[in-house]
Amino acid sequence: MKRAALTAEHEIVRVQLSERSYDIAIGAGIIDTAPPFFSARAKISHAVLVTDDQVRPLYADRIAAACAASGMRTTLLSVPAGETSKSIAMADQLWNQCLAEGADRKTVVIAVGGGVIGDLAGFIAATFARGLSFFQVPTTLLAQVDSSVGGKVGVNLPTAKNMVGAFWQPQGVLIDVDVLATLPEREYRAGMAEVVKYGVILDPDFFAYLEANVASIQLRDRKVLTQVIARCCQLKADVVQADERETTGLRAVLNYGHTFCHAFEATCGYGQLLHGEAVSIGMLCASRLAESLGRISPDVTQRQRKLLSALGLPTVPPQVDIDLVMTAMQRDKKVEHGKLQFVLPTKLGMVELVGDVPVKLAKQAINDG
Ligand code: NAD
Ligand code: MG
Repeated sequence: MKRAALTAEHEIVRVQLSERSYDIAIGAGIIDTAPPFFSARAKISHAVLVTDDQVRPLYADRIAAACAASGMRTTLLSVPAGETSKSIAMADQLWNQCLAEGADRKTVVIAVGGGVIGDLAGFIAATFARGLSFFQVPTTLLAQVDSSVGGKVGVNLPTAKNMVGAFWQPQGVLIDVDVLATLPEREYRAGMAEVVKYGVILDPDFFAYLEANVASIQLRDRKVLTQVIARCCQLKADVVQADERETTGLRAVLNYGHTFCHAFEATCGYGQLLHGEAVSIGMLCASRLAESLGRISPDVTQRQRKLLSALGLPTVPPQVDIDLVMTAMQRDKKVEHGKLQFVLPTKLGMVELVGDVPVKLAKQAINDG
């Protein structure tokens, strides 16, 4: 795996997508290098920063001021924090604000915030004036290890998450691990579930590294976080490089634990469980299912349970009507011709898409949790 370390605290992951290739810079205290990072990768006469009202005073005002000081005409647009801002109504508002601010085809969009902002600002970048250059400065752990890598941007419809969008790769992603210092504990832990997922699906050595560094992770140690986030970005980049637009099926490995997760999220009422919490429980269900299909031994599930629980993540399925969970699961997009499909481990560090799974065993995997 290629990863060029610049300094002990600063790494670059190159996402190789031919003419759409770009760098992800990961380090501690690198947020103030944002203007030169952008300028080295795009000619910027007008920068439109998109953020939310919680991230704005923490980080976006500061980046906007630095951009302006470096000579860029800078516009800062802020939306209310939260998933409801990922809507066509908000996109419509932002398109019109861009127009009023004199944005044109040379304007560059910069997302400063969590996954909601990355997806929304990326969607504006993909659509305004038929597409603008785009940068991401992700500020949640989930956005740093997951949503800012891979080029999926978009908004929700009232009854369908992420239903309208595009594949739109950024010109660069700047990840400062120090911004995680202000992230609420629950959001931080939830992001760690996706981190653990990368170890289970692709990298047993990384999984062991996480097991050995639980205490530093809990303390949000900036050196360990730089290593952890860089490795996750590299692992996701490897998958995205092999299947940029989710056409070969390779990208499906990223959905480990997510079929159960989506069913729990749907039946608990959105907002009860954070996505990462549902991923944690979902991975253990998938792992138990793999055990019952004879694909793995129980110790593979045990190691995941131990690590997830040490990281403060829930491991037991929520107390909800199991039949509602099963109905939700059968509505999930990974169901083909009425048969359930799951991404399941064959060993630590390797998963496969498994079809034709009996509903009874999936139900059992939840009940045994
Ligand atoms: P979010 O963007 O809503 O951020 C969570 C909360 O944390 C918000 O209230 C935000 O204001 C606050 N926040 C952000 N950074 C902060 C910081 N450094 N300090 C303090 N508070 C901070 O949620 P999220 O979990 O980052 O992202 C979830 C979204 O990501 C969902 O819409 C999901 O669909 C999307 N997503 C997209 C992809 C993709 O590939 N595009 C992948 C995974 C998830
Ligand atoms: Mg996820």
